[in-house]
Amino acid sequence: QMKLIINNVEIQNGEIITINGSNGEVISGKIATVEPELSNYFSIIMNWADEIKKLSVRTNAETPEDVNIAKKFGAEGIGLCRTEHMFFDSNRILYMRKMILAQDFDERQKAISKLEPFQKEDFKSIFKIMGELPVTIRLLDPPLHEFLPNSSEENKELLKTINATKEDLKNRIEQLDELNPMLGHRGSRLGITFPEIYKMQAKAILEAAIEVKEETGKSPVIEIMIPLIFSAKELSMIKNSIIDVENLVKEKKGKVSNLLVGTMIELPRAALMADEIAKFADFFSFGTNDLTQTTYGISRDDSSRFLEIYLDKKIIDIDPFVSLDSKGVGQLIKIAKEKSIPVNKSIKLGICGEHGGDPKSIEFCNSIGLDYVSCSPFRIPIARLAAAQAVIFEESNNLK
Ligand code: PEP
Ligand code: MG
Repeated sequence: QMKLIINNVEIQNGEIITINGSNGEVISGKIATVEPELSNYFSIIMNWADEIKKLSVRTNAETPEDVNIAKKFGAEGIGLCRTEHMFFDSNRILYMRKMILAQDFDERQKAISKLEPFQKEDFKSIFKIMGELPVTIRLLDPPLHEFLPNSSEENKELLKTINATKEDLKNRIEQLDELNPMLGHRGSRLGITFPEIYKMQAKAILEAAIEVKEETGKSPVIEIMIPLIFSAKELSMIKNSIIDVENLVKEKKGKVSNLLVGTMIELPRAALMADEIAKFADFFSFGTNDLTQTTYGISRDDSSRFLEIYLDKKIIDIDPFVSLDSKGVGQLIKIAKEKSIPVNKSIKLGICGEHGGDPKSIEFCNSIGLDYVSCSPFRIPIARLAAAQAVIFEESNNLK
């Protein structure tokens, strides 16, 4: 049994503690909390900020709860809806696992068709909350092994419902296991190798939009986003299959009026090839978490083990996963912007990595003229304020 000892106080594994997020104080047990109230002064300052800022502020959210919070804080759209989070629910994960472990196309298709209604309902509830504000939905991104069971108990449960022996399951799990820092069979690579998954997601998105229009009279503004591409070819292939789905949906249920298809720029090669990629993209969203990871060659999940020492030794001033490295990673963003605009004048450019809620990074995004930043719901007020401050700093620097 693991335990934690702080100043002679023993806390057992599994025991609940409370952390005061403002000062880091650790309190034993679960203490009662109250929802903070948004005062009148808060909205006055936020409105001042909105009058000045140039960047739009969107949110990264995928549950109705988070989308509602973000809207209350003034989100002007969703910049990143990570669809993978929708598959972990206990009543869906089984179908996800069946889809991953399917032996052939028919079996996979059967599992996918069970997931589709869940996805459609998720999208409908998000579209209803967001009304006519833009919603960027990212198609499935993580490697499939992340969805598989990792205990023998769960394996036993799964074996009761799938057509496989214990040995088959073990082999398949081993086959899907990856050792790399999220650089394997993920992102658009899933869309290329298992086109049915993205087709199901696109169909669920488009049908949800049509049904929401019928039910509320408002047309959702949809941006379908493809993750982790390194070439125009990947994007154009996946975009074509989305257009095929769009045509099928049009025949059956009608036309979706506001649909854009774009991509994340999360790999250095994608930034360098932005002129080719922009021909097929209505928007670019810079995934600065992965872009930082791949530009530095530092795995974002393991970096905390040594970045402290780099900070102590002053090799870096700040953790690049917290505040955007404007010199290096930022240079790739600038290159992508400069290369994309001549081939696609109307391309929309934003960022959706964690940096989207960091004031210094927001200042950088403002200085290079991006259209929006997207951050987690509770960061929205800070982002609105930082976006306005960035304009004020810029103007006062120009006067010097
Ligand atoms: C990113 O890489 O910046 C991003 C937003 O995607 P994720 O964090 O889900 O990889
Ligand atoms: Mg990413």
